[in-house]
Amino acid sequence: MRIARSFAELRSFLPAFRPHPLCLVPTMGALHEGHGALVDRGRSEGGFVAVSIFVNPLQFGPTEDLGRYPRTPEKDIEFLEKKGADLVFLPSPEEIVPRDATITVNPGPVGALYCGASRPGHFEGVLTIVLKLFHLFGPDLAIFGEKDRQQLFLIQKMARDLALPVRVIGHPTIRESDGLALSSRNRYLNTEERRRATLFPHHLTTTKRRWEETPPLTSEELDSLRTDLEGKLSREGFVVDYVAFVDPDTFREATLPLPRRVILLAAVFLGKTRLIDNVVIEADLSRV
Ligand code: AMP
Repeated sequence: MRIARSFAELRSFLPAFRPHPLCLVPTMGALHEGHGALVDRGRSEGGFVAVSIFVNPLQFGPTEDLGRYPRTPEKDIEFLEKKGADLVFLPSPEEIVPRDATITVNPGPVGALYCGASRPGHFEGVLTIVLKLFHLFGPDLAIFGEKDRQQLFLIQKMARDLALPVRVIGHPTIRESDGLALSSRNRYLNTEERRRATLFPHHLTTTKRRWEETPPLTSEELDSLRTDLEGKLSREGFVVDYVAFVDPDTFREATLPLPRRVILLAAVFLGKTRLIDNVVIEADLSRV
């Protein structure tokens, strides 16, 4: 596995991977089996797999966890070596974010909803760095996790809107055996919080089942599904950031008549840790 720590090193390694297809998996490191699944997926799509590890300061707000975000580069390199990645890129913040940089990517209206509402500037920071990584690697394919569903939507939209020559695909969320989505931030949870965290995906799944059994037909029924879920989460000790039923095509809140497929998207705080998750709801509207 090649290890590049600068643009120059990266440029010197890339020609060796051509003319085969190149797949890029961007990450912020502290790698776990969720990231591992993206590498495996890249391999199964054929060609070489490159992974970038960069804790992107542009996507953190001033009061967020940039300083304490876990950084485990040596373990990550070992992990990727075992996974059979072909190239890992660990750029320095100084090189990837020039001090005098002023040009950024505007994520448009969807960038201000959900996670973007509670984290102003977050998706602008994400898209700016992802676009830069696309330029640096020139990948044929890029893989992102469905766990970060809004991020995946916006990166796919950026690729379409700006005619980027890269195919962006999503990969299903990898979960612990109790249902909690793997996340680098899970290590912030203490034992009691970790035990309780399983209730977050549990209640999302219960709401999904309820919807699929009896799809909401009125805005009152839709509101009551949302408030019931928020109530359950609050009673279990979560502070709800948002709960939204989202139309996957537009990523706007789903409205009546509801589409067949809806994404239930949510973010909660458990103590100081912010958790996000989502599930896909597939209603059989012919029964309605
Ligand atoms: P991060 O390092 O958290 O920025 O994540 C890097 C990539 O891995 C993103 O595309 C995430 O959506 C994806 N990812 C993170 N956790 C998971 C998971 N549990 N399952 C699948 N993909 C994930």
